[in-house]
Amino acid sequence: MSQDLSVSSLSMVKCQCGIVTRIFTAFTPTNAGRHFYKCSKPNGYKCDYWKWVDEPLHPRVANLIHNLKKENDYLHREKKGLEMRIADLEKYLASEIEENCQRLDEIIILKSEEVVVDKSKNFFYKMWIVIAMLWCCFAAFITFWVMK
Ligand SMILES: [Zn+2]
Repeated sequence: MSQDLSVSSLSMVKCQCGIVTRIFTAFTPTNAGRHFYKCSKPNGYKCDYWKWVDEPLHPRVANLIHNLKKENDYLHREKKGLEMRIADLEKYLASEIEENCQRLDEIIILKSEEVVVDKSKNFFYKMWIVIAMLWCCFAAFITFWVMK
C-alpha cells in the first residue's frame, strides 16, 4: 500500500465510518499514479477502508510515473535549496552594498576635507609670495634711495 499520497478530489464512496471517502494517488513503484479511495478522517481517527479506483497500470507505466515523481520531488527540493541560497546571497549583497556605501561616504568626506586643507595652504603660499615681492620692492627702493 502507498505511503506517499496526495489528495486529488472528493468521491461519493463511503468508508466504514459512514462518511464520504477521498480519492488519493499512490506513488509506490508498483502502483504509481493509481487512484484509490480512503477514509477522509485525519490520521489517528481514520478507519482502515481503502479501495482501488483504477485498474492496475502496466508495470513500465507505473515505474515511469514513480521515477517522474521521484525526479519531481528532487527538483522541488533542489529549487527550495536554490531559493534559500539566492535569499542568502541577496542578504550578503545587501550588506556588502550598505558597507560599501558607508565607505564611499567616508571617502567623500575625507576628500572634501583635503580640498579645504589644500585651499588654506594655497592662501598661505600666495600670502608669502606677496610678502616676498613687497620685501624685494622695499629692498630695491631702499637700495636705489641710498645709491642716490
Ligand atoms: Zn472511515
